[in-house]
Amino acid sequence: MAQTTSQQPPSRAIPSNTAISNWLKRVWMPLALIAVLITLPSIVSVVNPREYNFWVFMATSIGITIILVTSQNLAMGYTGLVSIVQTGLYGVGAYTAAILAREMGWSFWVVLPIGVLGAAAVGLLISLTTMRLSNLYFAIGTMAFNIIIVEFIREGGRFTGGEIGIFGIKRPDFFGVKLDDTLYYYLVMGGLVVVLLTLSNLVHRSKYGRIFRALKGNESAAVALGIDPLRYRSMAFTLSAGLAGAAGVLFAFKNGFISPSDAGTEYGLILFVALLLGGNATIAGPIVGVLFIQVIRELTADYARYQQLILGAVMLGTMFAMPRGIVGTIQNLWEQRRTRGKVAKIEEKEAAVYLDPNVIHDLVQVKSSGRTASDERVLLEARGIHKRFGGLHALKGVDLRVKAGTIHGLIGPNGSGKSTLMNCLTRVMPCEGEILYDGKPMPKTAHKVAQMGVVRVFQIPHLFNDMTVRENVLMGLHQRAKHNVISYIVGMPYAMQEEQSLRAAADRLLEVANLKESANIKASLLPHGQKRLLEVLRALMMSPELLILDEPATGLVTSEVQALADLLRKLRDNGVTILLIEHNMAFVMSTCDVVTVLEEGEKIAEGLPADVQNDQRVITAYLGSADHLKQVKAALC
Ligand code: ADP
Ligand code: MG
Repeated sequence: MAQTTSQQPPSRAIPSNTAISNWLKRVWMPLALIAVLITLPSIVSVVNPREYNFWVFMATSIGITIILVTSQNLAMGYTGLVSIVQTGLYGVGAYTAAILAREMGWSFWVVLPIGVLGAAAVGLLISLTTMRLSNLYFAIGTMAFNIIIVEFIREGGRFTGGEIGIFGIKRPDFFGVKLDDTLYYYLVMGGLVVVLLTLSNLVHRSKYGRIFRALKGNESAAVALGIDPLRYRSMAFTLSAGLAGAAGVLFAFKNGFISPSDAGTEYGLILFVALLLGGNATIAGPIVGVLFIQVIRELTADYARYQQLILGAVMLGTMFAMPRGIVGTIQNLWEQRRTRGKVAKIEEKEAAVYLDPNVIHDLVQVKSSGRTASDERVLLEARGIHKRFGGLHALKGVDLRVKAGTIHGLIGPNGSGKSTLMNCLTRVMPCEGEILYDGKPMPKTAHKVAQMGVVRVFQIPHLFNDMTVRENVLMGLHQRAKHNVISYIVGMPYAMQEEQSLRAAADRLLEVANLKESANIKASLLPHGQKRLLEVLRALMMSPELLILDEPATGLVTSEVQALADLLRKLRDNGVTILLIEHNMAFVMSTCDVVTVLEEGEKIAEGLPADVQNDQRVITAYLGSADHLKQVKAALC
């Protein structure tokens, strides 16, 4: 049996120079960017004074384009929403601000937030109508909206200036000082730095960004953790729309005039090119992508008529040679170098979790309702569950009663319908029949089922492979993060503090689970046994009342199976109810209080493990082979 210990190695004080070097690692890139942006105008004025105005104006345009591509990055790169309406939203921001400035005489500083909010509101509206569509249709739906927005602008008569657009948009003042090209450059670049820093806060240091990335990586795993995909995707899309709107306002006031073609989808295509070239889902990707395109344009200026062709060829070449874009590829190489030695070491190690009941209570925050098997209370009840896949009748009127405070086993040959039953119970699939949880009807959607405390671990590991091991655990803690998205974006101290405390909880769990060294590596790099354990730990962080495990022992070595059995028993003793699908009979017999047997979609037996093993129908139907029989007999002794 696995050893039980709550001891943790004494924490080492971090030397201050390590703290400084960690801090430097985090800030050197933004600091370098800020230094370049501040000094650029002075350098140009020395190196090329005659073309100073042209250079500064162009740099400002590039800055605005990077903000727009970053909005595409938030939608497409981080959240997986292929939006073809970013330029339309950019147009909404630009026109809203320009019209208000002209009609009402409001200043830039007033119309900027209004333009942002206007674009965000239109983005929210678009997301509410298109978010239910599958990927391809979502993309086409957003493109349709872009066409509608451009048509509105074209037909807007006096307000939008129709085909001609709006002229004479005046540069803003700042405390009485009119912003000339150089000052406007600083304004845009300041905005760009703020956008990149806040985006980094959002996607790397908040539950919201993690949720956006999780939805892109593995939607069913995210839903099984209680995440409402529509809500969070709409949130990401609305934020991205607001950002596109901000770029639009900056553009209108830089240019002095705007026309319908600025919002057209043709312009939108270049955003895709820049993002994919630079690197989807990387903070620096849009910068590199936009600059790269600009450089290609400059280099091919003499062959203007072939420019599109060259860009297309570069795009295709990058897609084949560097599917993650320039920054993504560099990051990948860096990551490989960083983890090379580590992964080899990690692979040698077994996953095992030696948790004592106190540690479980503390870390997992078990809902200590004090339920035990003696309560005889039924937590989950399913009546007459039918499921058909076309002609295949996979579940034929199954009844199931899971008592609170028990480990309830579900066994049966391959294809007997065990996983399908779990999918039905957790509303991953629709089915016929009645499902009650704690005496009340089970909610109809999978994320609501999880929010009630019914958390499930899948038969095939469902990790967020592109996220680190720590981030995977943090995904299980998302319900404990209470602050709103804006407080994370602007980096409010209380939100950052909350994030820190969640990280500390995740790290403590990883430490006792023997996974501490892997905290910063991508989950995809873990060996199989550790992946399974990580998914169980992530589910535990949700403080489940009912934990559903689908063949968790598959692929684990004996000591890992023992540690898992030990953990499950301790969880049960601490009040967690467990529904366990398993093939490993020794594991089932040593952990389960009750066992239900399925065969070809029908329940053929139910009762105490020892009784079920002696049931003649079970022996012939399920345990028919001599090997299985031997295995069970061995477990009995
Ligand atoms: P078990 O988990 O007991 O091994 P499953 O529940 O996975 O069995 O499968 C039960 C039956 O339903 C099998 O015949 C399987 O092929 C079928 N099945 C499961 N999921 C689907 C699906 N999404 N579409 C069609 N058939 C399915
Ligand atoms: Mg299965």
